[in-house]
Amino acid sequence: MTPDDTRPETAESAALFARALAVTPGGVNSPVRAFNAVGGTPRFVQRASGAFLYDADGREYVDLICSWGPMLLGHAHPGVQAAVQEAVSRGTSYGTPTVPEVELAEEIVVRTPVEKVRFVSSGTEATMSAIRLARGFTGRELVVKFAGCYHGHVDALLAAAGSGLATLSVPGTPGVPVASTAATLVLPYNDPAAVERAFAEHGDEIACVITEASPGNMGVVPPLPGFNKMLAETCARHGALFVSDEVMTGFRVSRSGQWGLDGAREGWTPDLVTFGKVMGGGFPAAAFGGRADVMAMLSPEGPVYQAGTLSGNPVATTAGLATLRLATEEVYAGLDRAAGLLADEVDKALTEAGVAHVVQAGGNMFSAFLLDEPPTTDSVRDFAAASAQNVARYRAFFHAMLDQGVYLPPSAFEAWFLSSAHDDAVLDRVVSALPAAARAAA
Ligand code: PLP
Repeated sequence: MTPDDTRPETAESAALFARALAVTPGGVNSPVRAFNAVGGTPRFVQRASGAFLYDADGREYVDLICSWGPMLLGHAHPGVQAAVQEAVSRGTSYGTPTVPEVELAEEIVVRTPVEKVRFVSSGTEATMSAIRLARGFTGRELVVKFAGCYHGHVDALLAAAGSGLATLSVPGTPGVPVASTAATLVLPYNDPAAVERAFAEHGDEIACVITEASPGNMGVVPPLPGFNKMLAETCARHGALFVSDEVMTGFRVSRSGQWGLDGAREGWTPDLVTFGKVMGGGFPAAAFGGRADVMAMLSPEGPVYQAGTLSGNPVATTAGLATLRLATEEVYAGLDRAAGLLADEVDKALTEAGVAHVVQAGGNMFSAFLLDEPPTTDSVRDFAAASAQNVARYRAFFHAMLDQGVYLPPSAFEAWFLSSAHDDAVLDRVVSALPAAARAAA
């Protein structure tokens, strides 16, 4: 992709992007940052504060990406900054056990259903390790995942559905050997009958079912009531493990993640949970955890190997701990209110502009599906339905918002995120940009 935005107000970002393209594939270190889905020049951000990003051209944007989820308290929160600065002053990595990692593990164990937790550095590592552990614990190889759920760039999970339900899968990208996805079953999301059929056919071969606890990687497509419970119960009946991927939802949608919104109320627990994003407070930290007997299989206690040079890094765990401690119930109540208000306003603006759409929320994450025809169902329930959106409409909507100083995710298949710094004045700025963006999408 070449820089194609030649306007003077993006000249610095365009020049930096050209430099980046010369030395980095696509000019970015993670694909969606490149604007491939929406076209144009990604903004090079030089600093951020509260709800705002500031780019190399001196422009200010309301940030509705929040680093793809982690910045629950907004950018440069003074409490997190102070804790990090203090931690950095004591050195940045020792390769020995440290106090902050024990404290963060204790905080996670208190809030969530996991009994033991192991830190890693990215969500990808967390899901990769959880799957290895599930296979090691059960002595089985098959992994069930759902179309549209993203779990990082783990070979076995970069699988596209095969020709029919419950057929084994094919790699979703060059570079993944057929053998790596041959033991992955891809099922449609929110479809209990497909899960029953897969277990009827392969029940005693399935090591685990992994699912986003409430998907945000195909746009926001929450689980239908009881779907996660059904997965947990089906796994238990067949001796498989239920792996709930809370990398995105963990400590974001509630103090105890998505499990706090369904599992804790419905009385079920996942066997393993993966975390990332918010628990690192803006630093690379992630984790997987779960039942003590399953976690006991991990090295050095058990035979399943797993390790990491920077795992449990003292600066990253300090940032995560500060973030979790500062994220009070009031913070979550405020985020729920703000997300509800904004989702309503997006819905209203699109309706007034005559754009067919569905706006969907999962906790305080939400997104808009812009369509060509009025939806036939009241909600988008799976990847096939999410894929029916008109991405050209989203592209127009995205750029109209960006031009008005609101930075949305540069893809129609992503969740929009808020932080506790998105106060009423910030929300008003977003709301005032919506009518023109909705008209641009019409
Ligand atoms: N799982 C989920 C649900 C995610 O949303 C992501 C990233 O967006 C990952 C796993 C992978 O995390 P990371 O990008 O830190 O490797």
